[in-house]
Amino acid sequence: MTGTTVFVSGANGYIAQHIVKQLLAKGYSVVGSVRSSSKGEELKNLVKSDKFSYEIVPALGDKGAFDNALKKHPEVTVFLHTASPVSFSVNDIEKDLLRPAIDGTVNALQAIKDHGPQIKKVVITSSAVANLGWDKYFDGNKIYTEEDWNPITYQESLENAASGYYGSKKFAELAALDFIEKEKPNFAVSFVNPVYVFGPQAYAIKDKAQLNLSAEVINGVAKLGKNDKIAPFGSHFVDVRDVARAHLVAFENEEAISKRLIVASSGFTLDSIAHIINEHFPNSTVPKGDLSRNPEISKTNIQKVDSSKSNKILGFDLIPLEKSVVDTVQQIYSV
Ligand code: NAP
Repeated sequence: MTGTTVFVSGANGYIAQHIVKQLLAKGYSVVGSVRSSSKGEELKNLVKSDKFSYEIVPALGDKGAFDNALKKHPEVTVFLHTASPVSFSVNDIEKDLLRPAIDGTVNALQAIKDHGPQIKKVVITSSAVANLGWDKYFDGNKIYTEEDWNPITYQESLENAASGYYGSKKFAELAALDFIEKEKPNFAVSFVNPVYVFGPQAYAIKDKAQLNLSAEVINGVAKLGKNDKIAPFGSHFVDVRDVARAHLVAFENEEAISKRLIVASSGFTLDSIAHIINEHFPNSTVPKGDLSRNPEISKTNIQKVDSSKSNKILGFDLIPLEKSVVDTVQQIYSV
């Protein structure tokens, strides 16, 4: 694969850093986009490879955001669009979540069409929140698959930040499909739709007080004191190293073209995470998880998912919860 150059938007992100690491390990060259030169330099120092360079894209949602970056890199033939706001707490739901996600996706596709005619494969990081029903849209009887769409409307996405995030991913994915239908571009598009992403940071932990939204789920349990209560929360998880690997499969494997790949390993509850931490780190202050609560929490929190079509295309076994938690906590406790 040496000789192929891959563009990764939002290259300093939690998932993207693993993608960059795996691409470089397989001999690809990588051009990453970041919001500032300080973020670019920071990433360059972590990556330590002459096959990595970066371009600055300050705001995804600005018209023509990716034009200059692509004009400068006619060697890029694969584009992985991971950049998107990941937050459940923003001031302005539409401006801070929905528009950058949706407009950012369209801006990336338009730039590829206009300035990257040599680009043949595009992978968009969507999310399982675009497939599954969450919160009031949760349906415990339904078996969700790659064909499903979260029923949330654009208007409902404006109700609170969590809904804003769900909507941002659903409507960004739909905007991409709309672009493909109308513009009939010369490139193939695949979508990677992960559930909650756990697992260690690709390089160093910058500030363990607060990690990226999903990595913070395990960090939040790891920080608990003996007398703290464990919230009755659960969902689906997948390890970040598998999500990165799925992005590589999404452009390397022709079977992934036009597919929505749900990447999901298993369900989790915060009690299961606490239990695993106690088993492996007996000196931790984390309260013992109460596994007897799991069936009840699952009933209202954990959707039934059949992602067997995606698993077949991915072609590798997904990392189980125990390993993901242990590797994550090992890294957190070592800082
Ligand atoms: P992350 O660490 O927060 O990375 C997000 C990246 O997007 C960062 O590089 C960020 O730049 C960039 N970005 C955000 N808003 C932007 C804007 N308005 N303009 C320019 N760049 C912007 O999040 P992540 O967890 O790695 O997520 C990466 C992708 O995976 C996202 O598309 C997310 O929706 C998707 N995903 C994540 C999960 C999960 O559980 N983590 C699950 C499913 C899907 P800065 O660093 O400068 O802010």
